[in-house]
Amino acid sequence: MALTKEIELPSGKKYTQPLGLFINNEFVNSSSEDEIVSYNPATGQEIVAVQAADAVTDVDLAVKAAREAFPGWRDTPATEKRDLLLKLAQLVIDNVEMLAEVESLDTGKPVEQNAKYDMLELAEVLKYYAGWADKKTGQTFVPSADKLTYTLHQPLGVVGCIIPFNYPLAMMSWKWTAIATGNTTVFKSAEQTPLSILYFANLVKEAGFPPGVFNVVSGTGAKVGAAIAEHTGIDKVAFTGSTAVGQIIQRAAAVNLKPLTLECGGKSPIMIFDDADFEQAVKWTAWGIFNNMGQICSGTSRCFVQEGIYDKFVDALAKHVKETYVVGAPSDDKVLVGPQVSKKQQERVQSYIKSGLEEGCRAALGGEGLPEVIASSSEYKNGYYVKPTILADVLPTHKVAREEIFGPVIVVGKFSTYDDALAIANGSEYGLGSAVFTQDITRALNFANGVESGMCWINSSNDVEIASPFGGVKMSGYGRELGEYGLANFTNVKSVHVNLGKKL
Ligand code: ADP
Repeated sequence: MALTKEIELPSGKKYTQPLGLFINNEFVNSSSEDEIVSYNPATGQEIVAVQAADAVTDVDLAVKAAREAFPGWRDTPATEKRDLLLKLAQLVIDNVEMLAEVESLDTGKPVEQNAKYDMLELAEVLKYYAGWADKKTGQTFVPSADKLTYTLHQPLGVVGCIIPFNYPLAMMSWKWTAIATGNTTVFKSAEQTPLSILYFANLVKEAGFPPGVFNVVSGTGAKVGAAIAEHTGIDKVAFTGSTAVGQIIQRAAAVNLKPLTLECGGKSPIMIFDDADFEQAVKWTAWGIFNNMGQICSGTSRCFVQEGIYDKFVDALAKHVKETYVVGAPSDDKVLVGPQVSKKQQERVQSYIKSGLEEGCRAALGGEGLPEVIASSSEYKNGYYVKPTILADVLPTHKVAREEIFGPVIVVGKFSTYDDALAIANGSEYGLGSAVFTQDITRALNFANGVESGMCWINSSNDVEIASPFGGVKMSGYGRELGEYGLANFTNVKSVHVNLGKKL
């Protein structure tokens, strides 16, 4: 089976795409005949097929490689771990153009407006955790003159990392915390987007990471993802994806009581009070859902506006999105909205738009069908595009206000009082992000206290900060990535009790 293929990017540049599994710092053939076919979401055309791992043999091989590498990596001096992470971050920066183009080819992200930003985030996350690699310390406590206690924060062993399609390399980078804290890893990419992580693996090797620290197995969730979740040689799984799959993983992980980090779905509210900075509220509301084609776990997809400014807000939002969120080819620098990642996602999002209209919502922007610029294009009409859509006059009970759509669709409804707003915000099975717009500091802080979510943005939305933890409550999962809290998800805390002369 071929281990590489030369691929021409839309810019005309060529690159070598690895196709094998990445185990022990080498690209190797899968022992199965299975393949994952990657499609260009902008055109619907096949890009290439990568090799899919055999769920038993190859996953075992990757776990064995990680297991054997673990003691050496765990005991590598902290400053060396730091330097390797910094070197990798620099290689990402040096290769940012190519990485962004590969990511864009596979996901449909606009190169300039989305993919490059993701690659810079990848570099920043690596730098951030490089910083922690040689700084994280434990606690000491001296309860009495004859006793001392301290904590050791030790790596768990082999961590399985299951990543989603929406930010393949950025979501991968959040799980590099595992490596920074001394664990070794087996990564599985989403089946829609297997390409960039294999290209990135070249840089891991070039940076000088020891073999076995970072392994990649491509494959479907049902086969390879499930094998990771239930593998008894894996000590922890860090997962980002849907709630339904999070539940499956939690069940499978029971086999060896694997600890989990689950970052699952969301239906994050954004509440606009009538004293808000109107123009900023409009811009952030649009950004919080139309960025990355709405494929954002914490996307603020549920907007409720205080009744006095409701009509004005819906009109202004529609105008702003129409003017700013330009739909088109991912290779076009002006474009902010590319295609959805797959045909399946395109159809899913379009069926939600249909359902919203059938339930009585009004399309203040967009609606069913392809964006006009795409429908009339010979090159992109088979791409997985959806019109950026605003479904106005939504009620909290509507299906489109309750279920995660995961596309460029926002539902907008109204509320009257603060209590209504908080009740609507919390009336969801999910609890990932939330946002509130008001100039009243007391109201903003009360909302942040009362809202049932892992994150709350006051007067912004989805303004993610690497130094602040990211994660959810309720059906959005548990555990935190990013920030200092992220470290706790990949280490065991051991208490050491030292007797300094205490006699029985
Ligand atoms: P999305 O709806 O965003 O595609 P999924 O939860 O389906 O989210 O997928 C997220 C990741 O989980 C992908 O890498 C996918 O392959 C993986 N996955 C899907 N099903 C399973 C499963 N049964 N066990 C483990 N991983 C899975």
